[in-house]
Amino acid sequence: MARRAKAAVSFALGAFSLMMQGAPVGRGIEFSSTCWLIKHGRDWLLWDAGVPESSLNDPRGWSTLPKLIVYHLDKSLTDQLAEIGLKPSDIGLVAISHTHGDHIGNVSLFPNSTILMQRAEYNWINSANGPNDNLNQLMALARKLLGTPRNLHLIDGDTDVFGDGSITLISKPGHTPGSRSLLVHLV
Ligand SMILES: [Zn+2]
Repeated sequence: MARRAKAAVSFALGAFSLMMQGAPVGRGIEFSSTCWLIKHGRDWLLWDAGVPESSLNDPRGWSTLPKLIVYHLDKSLTDQLAEIGLKPSDIGLVAISHTHGDHIGNVSLFPNSTILMQRAEYNWINSANGPNDNLNQLMALARKLLGTPRNLHLIDGDTDVFGDGSITLISKPGHTPGSRSLLVHLV
């Protein structure tokens, strides 16, 4: 079973053209920022942790980089879990696609969960600052939002999470050095 949690997102300053090659400069778009909850037997796996709940109903929204993308959250991840009778402490596994803030904003809600993260991503956000200020800001925000998880499991390459081929984390560096995708076989 898979269920999607979401936050509304709008691109400011015509940033659509930054994301979509060939898109007209100056045009903005709206889309959803999602994370997914997957049930495997009696286990729950959360794929990404969404936009921080601290931004809930903030009319100014929240951004990973000022004035680039603005996120508006009108329902917290905690409340979306409660709608199906779950608490954050029921989620045993939190797998991170990459460490941009809109994907790890609520990792701190899961202090007892095992956090599955690509080693290359962890090493990247803990590397020295480079010449690109935007990247430096994103790395600093990632370190802040990730904190120091008690059960951090760093992964190299691809991983079959439950050993039965149902949920596989696939290394796909590019968007960030340790980005990855999730392959799910639903039954
Ligand atoms: Zn990203």
